Amino acid sequence: MDGELISVGTEILLGNITNTNATYLSEMCARLGISLYYHTVVGDNAGRLTKTLKQAWARSQVIIITGGLGPTQDDLTKETAAEVLGWKLTQDAHTKKRIENFFKEHLKIQDVKKIPENNWKQAMVPKGAQVIDNHNGTAPGLILEQDGKSMILLPGPPGEMKPMFEEAIYPYLRKRQPEVIYSQMVKICGVGESQVEADIQDLIQKQKNPTIAPYAKTGEVHLRITAKAKDEKEAKKLCKPLVRELKARFGKNIYTTEEKKTLEETVVELLADQNLTLATAESCTGGMVAARIVNVPGASSVLKESFVTYSDRAKRKRLLVKKGTLAKEGAVSSKTAKEMAKGGCFTSGADVCVAITGIAGPDGGSKEKPVGTVFMACCYKGDINVREFHLSGNRSKIREYSTVNALILLRDTLLQNFKKK
Ligand code: ATP
Ligand code: MG
Repeated sequence: MDGELISVGTEILLGNITNTNATYLSEMCARLGISLYYHTVVGDNAGRLTKTLKQAWARSQVIIITGGLGPTQDDLTKETAAEVLGWKLTQDAHTKKRIENFFKEHLKIQDVKKIPENNWKQAMVPKGAQVIDNHNGTAPGLILEQDGKSMILLPGPPGEMKPMFEEAIYPYLRKRQPEVIYSQMVKICGVGESQVEADIQDLIQKQKNPTIAPYAKTGEVHLRITAKAKDEKEAKKLCKPLVRELKARFGKNIYTTEEKKTLEETVVELLADQNLTLATAESCTGGMVAARIVNVPGASSVLKESFVTYSDRAKRKRLLVKKGTLAKEGAVSSKTAKEMAKGGCFTSGADVCVAITGIAGPDGGSKEKPVGTVFMACCYKGDINVREFHLSGNRSKIREYSTVNALILLRDTLLQNFKKK
């Protein structure tokens, strides 16, 4: 089934708000197996909205519109949709009662006469439309069906639109579109984007159902496996062999197959599983690794201490890096990274410490150590893993890549240790 989204609101065109409704609804439609071919944003203007609705109605089977259902003058969606389909507006007694109750319960206005007049406008619905109750506001959602097509009108505020979609629209569309799409994520770290693409070239070439789509993230590659089938169980079954094949090809570089799981979550889990505590010793990342770890609920059970040691003096004082090392090798060196990691373990008493020192630029580079040179070390009970990177990009990119790579080094060290046990 073909569909399209229309987001109504001049504030979206002006850049005052981000069109998060479109992101959410696109994801939902993908999950339902509805092929979305167009996203349109149109301002609060009757003429342009009419044109947009007519065009959409001519080419799509399902049109989902958000915004412009409120009580004010610039809210025109319902009136325009009714006009485009040639439907009349009529007062809906049920909605009128709900608006009255909303004002009584939420706004403590007991006297009906005190309810602002324009709110009753929201009780007017196109005659014959299916009315969807709004449990978080006053404007109801509407489904208009004609010639086997559906026009779905939803309020703009995400807090009203999403619950309504989940409760009523999703089940409605599920019935209209019996085929489901199921997708499974495979998240890879420690392998470059082009390498991953090369490694799955053959799979991409022969893909049909399921399909495989790579997404490059900072320091990671995510592969989305998507299958279409009559129900979720069947679709899952179609995905399984491909996921198994990817696991055989990328092995431990796959850190999760769960959609929502992050790299830092898997690191925190590994630490917790092994009953280990962590410290971070950061220079050019300035606490970004610690911040990623703290993103994970429950991080307090593993993270002991974090050091941001930007100056040489701080590296010496907090992490016991030797004066001679800094003088001879420099702050950005493999030896300094090692001593930072070792000192981090020692002074914090943590079992594991990951250290990062590098040149994020734009200044500070030299011929021997150009901008993007980053050294990382991970100390685990006296054993130290060191890695050297030559990253490209601007200051924030280099810092972001360094952060992900520090998490990867940490993960690899923990996996190594896991095997030894
Ligand atoms: P209201 O009753 O609040 O007027 P409405 O259905 O008329 O609701 P709009 O007036 O178009 O909706 O938008 C109200 C608010 O909802 C916007 O100011 C914005 O905060 C949010 N909103 C609207 N459209 C979107 C969108 N596409 N994505 C995210 N938020 C949105
Ligand atoms: Mg409005």
